[in-house]
Amino acid sequence: MIPGAFAYHRPKSISEAVALLSDLGEEARPLSGGHSLIPMMKLRLAKPTDLVDLNAIAELRGIREEGSEIVVGATTTQYEIIGSSLVAAKAPILAEAALVIADPQVRYLGTLGGNVANGDPGNDMPAVMMCLGATYQLAGKGGERRVAARDFYQGAYFTALEPGEIVAAIRIPIPAAGHGYAYEKLKRKIGDYATAAAAVVLTMAAGRVASCSIGLTNVGETPLWAEEAGRILVGSNLDAATVKRAVAAAEAITRPASDTRGPASYRTKMAGVMLTRALERAKSRAT
Ligand SMILES: Cc1cc2nc3c(=O)[nH]c(=O)nc-3n(C[C@H](O)[C@H](O)[C@H](O)COP(=O)(O)OP(=O)(O)OC[C@H]3O[C@@H](n4cnc5c(N)ncnc54)[C@H](O)[C@@H]3O)c2cc1C
Repeated sequence: MIPGAFAYHRPKSISEAVALLSDLGEEARPLSGGHSLIPMMKLRLAKPTDLVDLNAIAELRGIREEGSEIVVGATTTQYEIIGSSLVAAKAPILAEAALVIADPQVRYLGTLGGNVANGDPGNDMPAVMMCLGATYQLAGKGGERRVAARDFYQGAYFTALEPGEIVAAIRIPIPAAGHGYAYEKLKRKIGDYATAAAAVVLTMAAGRVASCSIGLTNVGETPLWAEEAGRILVGSNLDAATVKRAVAAAEAITRPASDTRGPASYRTKMAGVMLTRALERAKSRAT
């Protein structure tokens, strides 16, 4: 279908963008890669009066190291994340997750900022950000504020973003050297959203888990941080009985919908299977 009529704006700075969004009102929307918003507009599920394109704002782009964090500008594409040597060296789970998003065409244009701001529980990056303990740097007309990814998601398509605010950057604490990681995603076919997926980042010391953080994708109205499951694993050597207990704790917080990807009970079980696989792979990578 063809989208409804809208006005198009292409600001050159963050301040210009947030001033436009605030002046144009709640029916104006930021545009990044367009790979969630434009399909919604074509289906007339979104009918913005104005699109404020963020792609000409140089300060929103790029991946850099700042102290103990990797800072990713909001309009950095999934493709750029996959190709980043900094990501490969310091937080490779970002590239692993980006690689299982959709297909190359989507990844060339789809951005990290759009993916985390969208609020669709099927997006892969939000659970990875919860797992990593990332913070979103938000910009609005009144200035800047930061919100933890773990506090950002309030319901399907509802986030902590206030009207007129944008995600300017994603700040990721660099995981400890030698950490193990994995993002495991079950999908029906290439290019599909997750039936269920699990992100794991852990550290090992003397054969035992020293820290463990777990995020889950598309098994609830929001991405989930499986805090209790991670806590259960700390101190263990990831023996089968402890993993089973942790998986049960993770499954217990899921609330998936029954849909074309399967009944809710199946999707909950698949979240457990993805978590078990992610833990095995993360352990094998930890040094
Ligand atoms: C065929 C297909 C398959 C896909 N499969 C997957 C998948 O498996 N996993 C996955 O994670 N994604 C998938 N996607 C979605 C894709 O990753 C999108 O690119 C992503 O969800 C949104 O990023 P974007 O840059 O395209 O944002 P846009 O589409 O431009 O925007 C998405 C929403 O976020 C808002 N927004 C954008 N940028 C900002 C910002 N900086 N601050 C505040 N609000 C902002 C917009 O107003 C809009 O509401 C798929 C898309 C397609 C078309």
